[in-house]
Amino acid sequence: MDDLKYGTRNKRGDFTPGEKLEGAPVFVWPPRPLKFLRWLPGYFFPWNALFFLLGLGIWNWATPAKETLATLDWRWIAYLWLRNSAIVFVLFGAVELRLYVQRSQGNRFKFNGLFPADKKSDVFMFGSQNVDNMIRTFGTGIPIWTAYEVLMLHLWAIGWGPWTTFAEHPWALVALGLAIPMIHETHFFCIHWLIHRAPLYKWVHSVHHNSVNPSPWSSLSMHPVEHLLYWSDVLIHLVLPSHPLLVLYHLQVTGTGAIVGHIGFDKIEIGDERGMGTHAYAHYLHHKYFEVNYSDGVMPFDRWFGTWHDGSKEGDALMQARFERKRARINASPPTSTQ
Ligand SMILES: [Zn+2]
Ligand SMILES: [Zn+2]
Repeated sequence: MDDLKYGTRNKRGDFTPGEKLEGAPVFVWPPRPLKFLRWLPGYFFPWNALFFLLGLGIWNWATPAKETLATLDWRWIAYLWLRNSAIVFVLFGAVELRLYVQRSQGNRFKFNGLFPADKKSDVFMFGSQNVDNMIRTFGTGIPIWTAYEVLMLHLWAIGWGPWTTFAEHPWALVALGLAIPMIHETHFFCIHWLIHRAPLYKWVHSVHHNSVNPSPWSSLSMHPVEHLLYWSDVLIHLVLPSHPLLVLYHLQVTGTGAIVGHIGFDKIEIGDERGMGTHAYAHYLHHKYFEVNYSDGVMPFDRWFGTWHDGSKEGDALMQARFERKRARINASPPTSTQ
């Protein structure tokens, strides 16, 4: 595909999409029903539909029976851990293999013209972004994800919590299922904003931001404290009436879904003429500029708090003006006493 029909490339080889990012027309006033209907398919396809199918498959074919889950036993816990590791290894690995190892589309549609593997850096374990990212993903990420899953499935099996069934409350469960990506994004915005404050940024979140030029393996490359916060959104199923299928879907949206923002390409080419939009640009801008796009634009918080960057030159100017105001505020504040 000719990516320059869809955007521009600068001298460094970085691709910028021609269309600026638009926040979802969900929480807008006045309502925009036609725009909402045009936007809606993208809420489901391809990503959330894929995560739901994964959750459904896991629930039907790869989750132990309720009687087994009622007793904590290392064998089924190890099984969940291996199953989650395998899903991440296969999915993240497949995207990484095609786009970053085989480099099947070169740097067409790639936001950062360089490939992380071409640049060694001391900030990473063994000087390699990929090795560092994989150690963090499989070393603490998947075990913490699995711990949340074990907790939730065990509590369901012993009947602790407001669990219900699709026969009893079908519409409430469908509504919760539809809202899960928005619940995840709301929670992510809150914890993400929090860990960008000092000193949490330095101690915790800087680990994730070491990957300035992210690839799929960067998705779950986080400090263990961030892993703990990141998956805590699933605890909402102990507050709202829910079903374990929705827990498994939610864990996919949060866990596997982290890949969406870290693909590094605006489109994945499918044949010579077609490409699949990735939805990766908003979070790529976050990795590039740090203090923009704390969430991905479905929820309106970045727009409300003035931290939305739509990828355009105007978006850049707004961000620079905000940074200027911040600098001026810091310079104007009285020096703290040393006594
Ligand atoms: Zn990220
Ligand atoms: Zn961040």
